[in-house]
Amino acid sequence: MRLLLVEDDKLLGKGIHTGLRQAGYAVDWVMDGDAANAAVAHEPYDLMILDLGLPRLSGLHVLDKVRGSGKDLPVLILTARDSVNDKIVGLDAGADDYMVKPFDLDELGARIRALLRRQGGRRAPLITHGDIELDPAGHSVTKAGRVVDVPPREFAILHMLLDNAGRVLSRSRLEESLYSWKDEVDSNAVEVHIHHLRKKLGAELIRTIRGVGYIVDKAQ
Ligand code: CA
Repeated sequence: MRLLLVEDDKLLGKGIHTGLRQAGYAVDWVMDGDAANAAVAHEPYDLMILDLGLPRLSGLHVLDKVRGSGKDLPVLILTARDSVNDKIVGLDAGADDYMVKPFDLDELGARIRALLRRQGGRRAPLITHGDIELDPAGHSVTKAGRVVDVPPREFAILHMLLDNAGRVLSRSRLEESLYSWKDEVDSNAVEVHIHHLRKKLGAELIRTIRGVGYIVDKAQ
């Protein structure tokens, strides 16, 4: 999962950025509204965390532009304390959720998971596929009830494939969701991760569609 963080407060931004990376997300961080618009136009984000008070272009303008373009990117806005009006205007402008500063990072994490779940059309916190269960909150995977050790990037790939069961995802789409701008991308990393996932979860789970990408078939 790849997230865009838009926050001009260096200290707060750094805290959120570090926390989300530790939670296994690929995170790009920009500090003004123009940069946010440019990022959203070029990268396939799964969610945006958007501060409203930003230099150059306000968060509300960024939100307007995103919604105006028809993107259904989930947006969680960050608002300053005591500005009830910001929350109302933000939600009316198409934000999906909000948090008031200062906030708890664990709560932010839980709200992000809830939004991603809703985006994937799921209510249940666990993703199940046959005898495989993936828990986005606990970052754990079980097969037939037994815990399988899945490191963060393998987890991210599995999460995306299960969330998109029945759809082919290209290697580059998986790469884009796995790495932020700052990361070095190893050209055959996706293949290696898939290889490991197959060894742990069964060779038949992830199918290769030659020249196109990878698919997990819809569960029966
Ligand atoms: Ca700000």
